[in-house]
Formats: sequence, C-alpha cells, structure tokens
Amino acid sequence: MNCLACGSESLVGGTVFDSNGSNLNFKLDDAPVWKSLFGVGTRGIRTNGCVHCGHLQLAVDFTEKDPQRYQQFEGEQPGLLERINSEPGEQDTKMREVF
Ligand SMILES: [Zn+2]
Repeated sequence: MNCLACGSESLVGGTVFDSNGSNLNFKLDDAPVWKSLFGVGTRGIRTNGCVHCGHLQLAVDFTEKDPQRYQQFEGEQPGLLERINSEPGEQDTKMREVF
C-alpha cells in the first residue's frame, strides 16, 4: 500500500483514539443508534500514517457479509422506488400473470 498523498511506501499502522481513550468506530448509516451502542452496525477503523509526509489514511474493517449486502449496486445506493422502477420488465410479467 502506498500513501495516497505523496505515493511513498513508508506507511506505519496504528490506532486512532478519542480523548477518552476509546477506539474510533465507523457506524453504518442504516444501523439504529441504540444498536450501535452495543457494537451492532459498527465497524473498526484501520489507520496508516505516512512517515514521509504525515498523511493519515483511514480504512473500514468490513465484515465478510458486508460486500454482499452493500455491493449489489455500483455507486450510490438507490432508494426503494428507484429499485422497483428499474425493473419494468419484471413488473410487466407480474401484471400479465395477475390479469
Ligand atoms: Zn505520504
């Protein structure tokens, strides 16, 4: 892995803490806040600091199931109505079966 700012390979792994000494976590937007208090819907954060320029890089420790859950659509996740409207062929077939 290279530094995104200067391209150097001089990266050192580490951990970022808040002022209370707690590790920082990444909270998924679709996870309720009360569940995240128990660690549900949160992911750890990996950090690497560049010794050459001081740039700090963050990465999320996703679980094995997260790619299946979130990579169904490239780019921004569409809303429910957009998903329904994007499959008109299937909708037509269902309508014909009903009538
Ligand atoms: Zn750098």
